[in-house]
Amino acid sequence: MANMTILGAGLAGLSTAMMLRNDGHDVTVLERDPAPPGAEPWETWQRPGVNQFRLPHFMLPRWWQVLSTELPTAASEVLAAGGSRFSLVPPPHREGDALFDTVTARRPVIEAALARAAEASGVVLRRGVRLTGVHLESGRVTGVTTAEGPVRADLVIDCLGRRSAMPDWLAAAGAPRPAEEKDDAGFVYYSRHFRGDRPDLQVMVQQQYASVSVLTLPGDDGTWSVVVVASTRDHALRVLRDPSVWTDVLRRYPLVAPWIDATPITGVDALAGIEDRLRHYAPDGTPLVTGMVPVGDAWACTNPSLGRGAAFTLIHARLLRDTLRDTDPADHEKVARRFHEATARTVLPLYRATNGFDKHRLAEIDSDVTAVPYRTDDLRWIGAKALYAAALRDPDMLRAYLTVAGFLETPDEVFAKPGVRDRVLALGVSAPQYPLPGPGRAELLRLCS
Ligand SMILES: Cc1cc2nc3c(=O)[nH]c(=O)nc-3n(C[C@H](O)[C@H](O)[C@H](O)COP(=O)(O)OP(=O)(O)OC[C@H]3O[C@@H](n4cnc5c(N)ncnc54)[C@H](O)[C@@H]3O)c2cc1C
Repeated sequence: MANMTILGAGLAGLSTAMMLRNDGHDVTVLERDPAPPGAEPWETWQRPGVNQFRLPHFMLPRWWQVLSTELPTAASEVLAAGGSRFSLVPPPHREGDALFDTVTARRPVIEAALARAAEASGVVLRRGVRLTGVHLESGRVTGVTTAEGPVRADLVIDCLGRRSAMPDWLAAAGAPRPAEEKDDAGFVYYSRHFRGDRPDLQVMVQQQYASVSVLTLPGDDGTWSVVVVASTRDHALRVLRDPSVWTDVLRRYPLVAPWIDATPITGVDALAGIEDRLRHYAPDGTPLVTGMVPVGDAWACTNPSLGRGAAFTLIHARLLRDTLRDTDPADHEKVARRFHEATARTVLPLYRATNGFDKHRLAEIDSDVTAVPYRTDDLRWIGAKALYAAALRDPDMLRAYLTVAGFLETPDEVFAKPGVRDRVLALGVSAPQYPLPGPGRAELLRLCS
């Protein structure tokens, strides 16, 4: 078994660490930020390394499915920490709906639970470690440098998140810098957390309205969050930073209003400038270096409006574990090549699909702002819109839609099922652009003026 050094103790680092430790590897995680403070991670845990630490996070059914299957001890720890069970399907439920179950909590609560489970499984977690670079020998990363000295490893796993400095460290060590696809996602998020008696889900957690989307996201321990997603170009909505305007506006959306009728536990947090980023560590299939692979946001990150980041980290971590089951860790070239190939084959298409959806939704929102109807020939987007509309009119199509929204299956898989395409065509294609009740653009502007 090999000596694995994981950089970063965020969602990807902790999940990867546990999966590899459970396979018998010696696993050390190096993290700059301090440990969770004990009982109240939401209130007091200082995490400057993760910008979004106290912003809304919702764990999709896919995340829960992989966590409870692959890391049952960690799943139990999340439940013990107060993680709340939640179904993406509003009542009444029927047989088979367990597929849409998840367990979710505020991000600090989840991360503290994963950290406890990781340490209990034998992962060595070293906090307060400032990483400064990598050691490179003949194209192979053989370890990292820290403020306290070098650390050698059979395999270095970059889980440093969306702002990982790995490309700079490789370049400084004389390796090629990975090419990046990078793009400001163009969304701005106005979000707020609440505590109280959580309202019942009436339709779906992600709702599309004229020029905004709204998310109503359950958390742990009687908490939840409400997020308005808008375009950064929509200057008129910047007043949503003001809690009183935010509240007045959201009261006009009948499905959202019950979710803001509670005690806020934060102000309105506004966040923009989130980049979609993909790093090419094996252009043309040939790894730029061996001895180092990226997992999670360090490899690719999207903007969070579909809430897929955590599920991506688990899918990617499992892929690395499976690669290492099939490949001798001492064969550095083969490990790197196979992992990059597997990533390109299975995770990259999910990233592209997520990105593609976001780009269309942003373009649609921008069209709402300029009052020009959004037109595209992309059948994937037309299908996604029609499925969403059909979901609001038919319980079977709701489940088909939630299979995609829960990240359980791809749209292609769902549309290939008997009857789905015809039903979506019948119900969804001629539906109004925004079927849910709520202000149109003109009224939204009036509320924000
Ligand atoms: C606003 C926002 C909302 C989101 N909401 C959701 C959601 O609802 N659902 C969802 O699934 N996903 C969501 N995401 C995505 C999710 O947060 C990320 O996908 C997830 O955090 C990725 O985990 P990671 O471990 O790859 O990176 P991170 O969680 O960023 O962890 C990186 C770790 O590396 C450490 N680190 C960095 N540099 C160094 C260094 N030099 N030395 C030592 N340590 C270092 C950091 O301290 C950190 O602990 C959201 C993202 C944003 C921006």
